Amino acid sequence: MTDLANPPTSTSAEVSGVTAGPTGQSRSGMTADALRAAVSDHLLYSIARPPAVLTPEHYYRALSLAVRDRMQKRWMATTQDWLDRSAKVTCYLSAEFLMGPQLGNNLLNLGIEDEARTALAGLGQDLDVILDCEGEPGLGNGGLGRLAACYLDSLATLERPSIGYGIRYEFGIFSQEIVDGWQVEKTDNWLVRGNPWEIDKPDASYLVSWGGHTEAYEDVTGRLRVRWVPQRVFQGVSYDTPVQGYGVNTCNTLTLWSARAVESFALEAFNTGDFYRAVDEEVVSETVSKVLYPNDEPEAGKRLRLLQQYFFVTCSLQDVLNIHTQRAGLPLSALPDKWAIQLNDTHPSIAVAELMRLLIDDHQLPWEQAWNLTVRTFGYTNHTLLPEALETWPLAMFSEALPRHLELIYEINDRFLEEVRARFPGDEERVARMSLIGEDGGRSVRMAHLATVGSHAVNGVAALHSELLKSSVLKDFYEMWPQRFGNVTNGVTPRRFLALSNPGLRGLLDQTIGTGWLTDLERLHGLESFVDDPAFRQRWRDVKRVNKSRLAEFIHSATGIECSPAWMFDVQVKRIHEYKRQHLMALHIITLYHRLKTSPGLTVPPRVFLFGGKAAPGYFVAKRIIKLITAVGETINADPDVNRCLKVVFLPNFNVKNAHLVYPAADLSEQISTAGKEASGTGNMKFMINGAVTIGTLDGANVEIRREAGAENFFLFGLTEGEVERVKADGYRPLNHVESDAELAAVLELIARGEFTGGDPEVLRPIVDNLIHHDPFLALADYRSYVDCQEQVSRAWLDSDAWSRMSILNTARSGMFSSDRAIAEYCDDIWGVGPMPVAF
Ligand SMILES: *Cc1c(COP(=O)(O)O)cnc(C)c1O
Repeated sequence: MTDLANPPTSTSAEVSGVTAGPTGQSRSGMTADALRAAVSDHLLYSIARPPAVLTPEHYYRALSLAVRDRMQKRWMATTQDWLDRSAKVTCYLSAEFLMGPQLGNNLLNLGIEDEARTALAGLGQDLDVILDCEGEPGLGNGGLGRLAACYLDSLATLERPSIGYGIRYEFGIFSQEIVDGWQVEKTDNWLVRGNPWEIDKPDASYLVSWGGHTEAYEDVTGRLRVRWVPQRVFQGVSYDTPVQGYGVNTCNTLTLWSARAVESFALEAFNTGDFYRAVDEEVVSETVSKVLYPNDEPEAGKRLRLLQQYFFVTCSLQDVLNIHTQRAGLPLSALPDKWAIQLNDTHPSIAVAELMRLLIDDHQLPWEQAWNLTVRTFGYTNHTLLPEALETWPLAMFSEALPRHLELIYEINDRFLEEVRARFPGDEERVARMSLIGEDGGRSVRMAHLATVGSHAVNGVAALHSELLKSSVLKDFYEMWPQRFGNVTNGVTPRRFLALSNPGLRGLLDQTIGTGWLTDLERLHGLESFVDDPAFRQRWRDVKRVNKSRLAEFIHSATGIECSPAWMFDVQVKRIHEYKRQHLMALHIITLYHRLKTSPGLTVPPRVFLFGGKAAPGYFVAKRIIKLITAVGETINADPDVNRCLKVVFLPNFNVKNAHLVYPAADLSEQISTAGKEASGTGNMKFMINGAVTIGTLDGANVEIRREAGAENFFLFGLTEGEVERVKADGYRPLNHVESDAELAAVLELIARGEFTGGDPEVLRPIVDNLIHHDPFLALADYRSYVDCQEQVSRAWLDSDAWSRMSILNTARSGMFSSDRAIAEYCDDIWGVGPMPVAF
């Protein structure tokens, strides 16, 4: 919650009026001297350790607090400003924010990296060592959560007033260890060392109800109303983190909610002498924000997950209404003029019913007005076409948990289906398909339908994805409301994914085209005039080489494997999933192994095959795919016949922190999902910006990456989305490919006979069986095309000047993949939120 939810205690003049004097300087001075004094101050007053026992970790915390101090006035001025000016604010509702380490990014955005380095050097410390002390706040699974974080960075940098709302999970995404080649999950107790970036607001909280039943009653005016009598009430407490824009004063807020017991309810039990029930109540309440759920697992029956979603949505909406009516004193009718609320996938889509409940039950608005305000306020971003990933909740469970919301959803549905019948008379099949209530299998609430019906704008996250939404999963809705549908291709922030993580390239860019690219990534086009300059190409290669050495060192420390930076780094890092087809990349590696073993004189251009990514703990096949990769790696890395030109690495625990090392070091970016399955991808963009050349299918944003880079600078293979659908419709038989392709048969036979598992055929049998008999994502159908395309890659690599050309042109043409471009589109086309420079 922003401070606006609290009674105002100062005017903006007072807020920005804190000035010099020793205290003011040590809290806000931006020079190296001021920073050094501030760190010393915090070591004494906040860390409270005598000099003799100080560790780099202590310096990390002291510096972080000093940096946070420097954002504080900008932060308060930003919040105060949008209230004073009654600006429209974007709320980005997301169950995940994968923020990554904060210190380096905040130094960058504040423009005080050099000052901080000097300040620490003056204290005998190395900034790089201090930066490395920061852990990963792993409050997301992967792409979706990282997208939310990139969007916050761009919103602040583009000076758009905004709040990110999410959940402060006590345990983030598990950390991954590899033991005997298998993934082992360890709990991620990220808060145990404290979090210097957040500020808790224990005085500011909202009540959250759950379960129980509803009652009809007549209010004092004689109107029939509904009251929700919950079974349980707890509260959400806010923890706020500043989100500093780059090179601007704007500092926005990320509000994460943490669940707590409500004292008064616990007291009730105390009073009746039931001490243990009171304590139990507290434990149960606090469970709500305990742990982030890994995705790609069967969701059915996960009551706690639904509770988490409702929990953060109701706290966020109550906060918005509180600021709007109490702090700003505005009428509810102005809600859509002052707030744009974006639903990041369906996880927050209960917000549609919750806002209706707040407006109708708490604020006594009539239905039609409440509905009009709701639809005008919400926008919905869809993130998946996989039918198994579309969220639904079993009706019985939903009704038990949120009885009032189910009533409201029924009413929304009745009115909506009436509209459908009026538009498409007699088409009852369409009515059943579009209903918010699914009747297939057990009855369920379809969250994507609720989000679509309750939003004025619906978008996919890449051009192809948005088209497929309109022609497949949301086709009926598109036919009903074509004007609601649009596309906003994802983007990534060039601050974190270029400036911060690729200092070598940053320096080369600054010298070559100036520094403007940091906030106007299209300026990278300026590189195109240098592609034919041999000296520039050499500097380009030197930068890549340094990045590869840096990653090789990290790989060695994490896995013990030695990799030469002279080799091609061929990289696939992302969550492990069958549709992303890490196993297809493994089949290529085994193909090369097979060739080298059967033709002793053969050489292939040397490559490091690097994988990273977590598998959902309950996703059986994904975990076997990790085992396949590590088993192939152990065999190859130890075999002198092949390890002279092949190395296979599985880098454990891929996260934002080590992503900083991976993307800048890649030569080849593997984006090989089955066409039509990856909504967009953002990893593909991070690779491109950092000069990797892509081998990929026509899927997600790869389509746009290839269009921008030029077909000659992209390695394309595989079936198109239309071909995939046709193959499936014709009755796909993977065995046909095995029977007609001797090399593929030999590769599968190697796995099946236990070549990589010490002769044990059982360990990897499920993968082989799955491929031969099911192959739901057509890995075998694309195998030959992929392996042939990799031949072209190998040939291209041998001409290092030609390769450098491709690499430079990929970076030069990556401008549209900045999250600044994406956020500008959201602001213009969906949110209607303009820039609001903050006076400071
Ligand atoms: C960008 C990113 C992702 C998303 O990668 P995709 O290749 O788009 O699936 C996942 N995890 C982390 C840590 C990332 O930085």
